[in-house]
Amino acid sequence: MANKILIIEDEVNIARFVELELMHEGNEVDKAHDGREGLDKALATDYDLILLDVMLPKLNGLEVLRRLRMEKETPVIMLTARDAVMDKVSGLDAGADDYITKPFAIEELLARIRVALKKRGGAAVATHKMTIGGVSLDEDRHEVTVNGEAIELTNREFELLHSLMRNKNIVMDREKLMNEVCGYDYIGETNIIDVYVRYIRTKIDDRFGIKLIQTVRGVGYVIKDND
Ligand code: CA
Repeated sequence: MANKILIIEDEVNIARFVELELMHEGNEVDKAHDGREGLDKALATDYDLILLDVMLPKLNGLEVLRRLRMEKETPVIMLTARDAVMDKVSGLDAGADDYITKPFAIEELLARIRVALKKRGGAAVATHKMTIGGVSLDEDRHEVTVNGEAIELTNREFELLHSLMRNKNIVMDREKLMNEVCGYDYIGETNIIDVYVRYIRTKIDDRFGIKLIQTVRGVGYVIKDND
């Protein structure tokens, strides 16, 4: 699991110990030794997870979390002192994903990290957004833009474009595209794909003077990413 993890902890020995364990597990690790430095790093870099101590110099952990949450949803596990019930409650209220009480067993911390990463469903990893040339497709928002301008596509046109962009540089034959666009139980002529390609070309290629979908004679279609 090559995740990028930030440790914000002023106790150097704890920070170093956790860092070594996390690196041993194959993670990339950054450290910050006070709240101010930690917040700056957390805002500047997209981490998969942050381990955040509560008692920190310059800016305490709860304040770091509060300010972070105004901008980002990075998963956070708070490191709290034993019996500091208020810290736990305040931390969760402020948007922490979990907390662990010091001193902790490293196995427990690693287990909680795995849970926190899984809970976010890898949201930090895949954004479901792709761009080729000036054409961007946002799967979650079901949106296509060309050079920043929104394009209206029907569902099937969207699915066809999505399939070609997802499989960029791979020639897709009509049957494969039809399965992806119309579903495997669709009975019909594969030339319906040609029709959708024509519609997309009218809406995108003709209008913006680009050549997005290439025809591979006798086979099918491909979108090439030349970057
Ligand atoms: Ca501390």
